[in-house]
Amino acid sequence: MAITRRQMVSGAAIAAAVAAVPSRAQDTATKKQKIVVCGGHPGDPEYGCGGTIARLTALGHEVTLLYLNEGDWPPTSAAERLEEARKACEILKAKRLYAGQKNGHAIVDEEHYEAYRKVLEQVNPDIVLTHWPIDNHRDHRACWNLTYDAWLQGKKKFALYAYEVSDGEDTQQYSPATYIDISSTEAVKRAACYAHASQTPDRYYAMQDQVAAFRGIESGSQRAEAFFMLRGSPSDLLAGILR
Ligand SMILES: [Zn+2]
Repeated sequence: MAITRRQMVSGAAIAAAVAAVPSRAQDTATKKQKIVVCGGHPGDPEYGCGGTIARLTALGHEVTLLYLNEGDWPPTSAAERLEEARKACEILKAKRLYAGQKNGHAIVDEEHYEAYRKVLEQVNPDIVLTHWPIDNHRDHRACWNLTYDAWLQGKKKFALYAYEVSDGEDTQQYSPATYIDISSTEAVKRAACYAHASQTPDRYYAMQDQVAAFRGIESGSQRAEAFFMLRGSPSDLLAGILR
């Protein structure tokens, strides 16, 4: 069958248009995503997600650590804790924000839900990581509640994940499904955790590293961090970027 010139042009135009539209997979791999990692205290995002954060920032994604409070607790001053967090974020190439609450005295009420939601909205993240809801520390449970509520109020626009920290002491009955290989960034994670020098890192890093080794055994790598994605998230974006 003879093809007219008009048909040829339109065929070429369609082919070019199809080529110009990136596939969803290509889009996920190349778009710079905004990620917020929420923690009840300075150090929680680093211990729970430090290897994943280092992988994300190495790829050029923008990661912000959102601490519920400044982490000061006698005899450690706020100035000392702020400086430790500054160093940790520098190591991870992450930004940092504070939600303005007090260590050990987290408040979850209408006013604080609103204030927290506004902080998250300012960043307008694609992905948020936060504490698992069953946790022995009140501040961690508060952090989960505030983040989950912001996700619901914002119509589940970002992919929401939970992470684990100090299992047994803090996180309880955790059941992850998204595993991220952190073998290549474990040393960076370790340095960021040790930047919180006032928080007995010898004890807590050893504990968290046992968890990372176990998650590695489960997923076939040397070290891994494991996350729980909330149903209703737009997609498993974290796995899309890092797997
Ligand atoms: Zn904590």
